[in-house]
Amino acid sequence: MDEFSLIREFFLDATPAGDDVVLGIGDDAAVLEIPAPWQLVLCVDTLVAGRHFPSSTAAADIGWKALAVNLSDLAAMGAMPRWFTLALTLPEADTDWVSAFSAGLAELARSVPVSLVGGDTTRGPLSMTVTAGGWIEAGKALCRDGAQPGDAVCVTGTLGDAALALRRLPVDACAVGDAALRQRLDRPTPRIAAGRALRRLAHAAIDVSDGLAADLGHMLQGRRSVKGAEALTSSRGAVIDLQRLPRSPEFAALAPTGDAAVDLQLAGGDDYELCFCLDPADVAAARERLLMVGVPLTVVGRVITEPGVWLDDGASRKLCTVGGFNHFGVAST
Ligand code: ADP
Ligand code: MG
Repeated sequence: MDEFSLIREFFLDATPAGDDVVLGIGDDAAVLEIPAPWQLVLCVDTLVAGRHFPSSTAAADIGWKALAVNLSDLAAMGAMPRWFTLALTLPEADTDWVSAFSAGLAELARSVPVSLVGGDTTRGPLSMTVTAGGWIEAGKALCRDGAQPGDAVCVTGTLGDAALALRRLPVDACAVGDAALRQRLDRPTPRIAAGRALRRLAHAAIDVSDGLAADLGHMLQGRRSVKGAEALTSSRGAVIDLQRLPRSPEFAALAPTGDAAVDLQLAGGDDYELCFCLDPADVAAARERLLMVGVPLTVVGRVITEPGVWLDDGASRKLCTVGGFNHFGVAST
C-alpha cells in the first residue's frame, strides 16, 4: 500500500473533526481557529521504538501512548486539548500494524475528543512524533514556576506502576496484577480533567514523565531550568515524605521491598500523573474537585526554601540522589 492510500485508509477519518478545524488532513497545512479569549497551547513529543516503548508493545498501545504523552503535557498546563498532528516513520507499509496503531490512537482521540489534522508519513526506523494543541483561558496556563515555600506538594493517582511493569517484563509477568501494571505502562491516562480542575488553585504544575524526583526538581527550578546557572541558584526545594508516596494495590502486591520500590516510585518514570504545588489551605478544595473527576490526590511533601529535593523516611532527611531519565545525560544525577 502506498503512502497516500495509507493516509486515506487509516488516518483521514480516524478522529472526530472539532468546530475549530477549518481545514484538516489533505491540504499543505491545517487551518485552525483559536476563538477569543483563548490562547493556544502547543507541545510535541517523540516516541522511538525500543527507547520509549518495549519492542513487544502492541501497535494499538503505541498509537494510544503516542497521543497520551502529548495530552499529558497539555493537561499539566491546564489546557483543553483540541487537535494534533502525527509524523509517523515506519520501516515498512505493514497495513495490519498501521490499522491497529490508528485504532489505538483514534480510541484515545475520540474519548477526549481531539482531531487529527495533519501529519507526515515516511520510511525509516519506527518512531512517531505527535504535536498537540489546545486552548487555555488567556493568562491562566498552569506553569512550572510559581511554587512557594510552605506549599503542599501533591500528586494525582499512584506512582511507580509503569516502571514496575517494565521491570517485570523479562520475568514471566502473569501474576494477578501484572495486566493492570502493564496497562499503566502501555495506556497511560492523561489527567486532562484534573489539570482543568486545578487551574485556579495550583501555583505550579508538571506532568510526571521522568519520575517524581526529577520532575519535581524541574518544577522547583521553574520553566527556565534548561539554563544551568539559574538552576543552581534556585532558592526553592522540597521535602518528599516517602511514606506517603501513593501506591496502587498492584504495586503494593508485586513491588520489590525496601529502597528498590521507592526508586521505582521516585525515578521509574512513565507515570503521566500530575505533580502540583498549592497553598495547604486549598488542599481540601483541590481534593474535592479532583474527586469529582475521579482522580485521587495525595499530599507527598512540601516546598521549602532550601534548594534540592529531600527525602524524609520518618527517621531522617537525605538529599535525593536518584535521578530521572535524561537522553543525553552522562549519568543520572
Ligand atoms: P506534503 O508533501 O505537502 O507535506 P504529504 O503528502 O506529506 O503533504 O501529506 C498529504 C496530506 O496528508 C497532508 O495534509 C498531511 O498533513 C496529511 N498526512 C500525511 N501523513 C499523515 C499522517 N500520518 N497522519 C495524518 N495526516 C497525514
Ligand atoms: Mg509531508
